[in-house]
Amino acid sequence: MSEARKLPNIIICGTPGTGKTTLAEQLADATELEHVNIGTVVKEHSLHFGYDEKWQTYDVDEDKLMDYLEERVKQGGCIIDWHTCDMFPEEWIDLVLVLRTDHSKLWERLEGRKYPLHKIQENNEAEIMQVCLDEAREAFDENVVIELPSDSPSDMDSNIERVLQWLEAWKKNH
Ligand code: ADP
Ligand code: MN
Repeated sequence: MSEARKLPNIIICGTPGTGKTTLAEQLADATELEHVNIGTVVKEHSLHFGYDEKWQTYDVDEDKLMDYLEERVKQGGCIIDWHTCDMFPEEWIDLVLVLRTDHSKLWERLEGRKYPLHKIQENNEAEIMQVCLDEAREAFDENVVIELPSDSPSDMDSNIERVLQWLEAWKKNH
């Protein structure tokens, strides 16, 4: 499938609050890549089994989601924005970015979002335990996975710069 892609597909994953959507939007503005916010897609196209009140999240129907995404992702040029990455087929993806945030900063961001305490605690713990990073490293080749700090606006700027350079190199090689 990668033979057919004129542009690469990138996943931005990481614990909620680490800055995935902010980075994805800025990259989409700066490039010809398209931001695919999985949370939004799941909601808009009803690719779920229902809403989980306790965790305030949709219970994603992964089969439906993959069917929906396949045609779109095949074209290439997607920036997939979702907290986990291991449900996406390896051959779809050219780069996996895992955003990381200091846990006290993350706590403040999630409080700012008015998450209930148990949800702040669970996400904070997941960040400390580097759950998203471990998942990414297990599901994808180590050369494809990049861990990026996302503590400050200057981290955000250097992350954008780094991805833009990676994208230029990818285009030269494909
Ligand atoms: P996610 O999509 O991973 O849940 P968001 O992009 O919605 O995260 O960001 C969560 C909050 O953190 C937002 O208020 C955003 O402005 C802030 N934020 C994100 N990345 C950074 C960063 N690198 N430095 C400072 N604040 C950030
Ligand atoms: Mn988001």
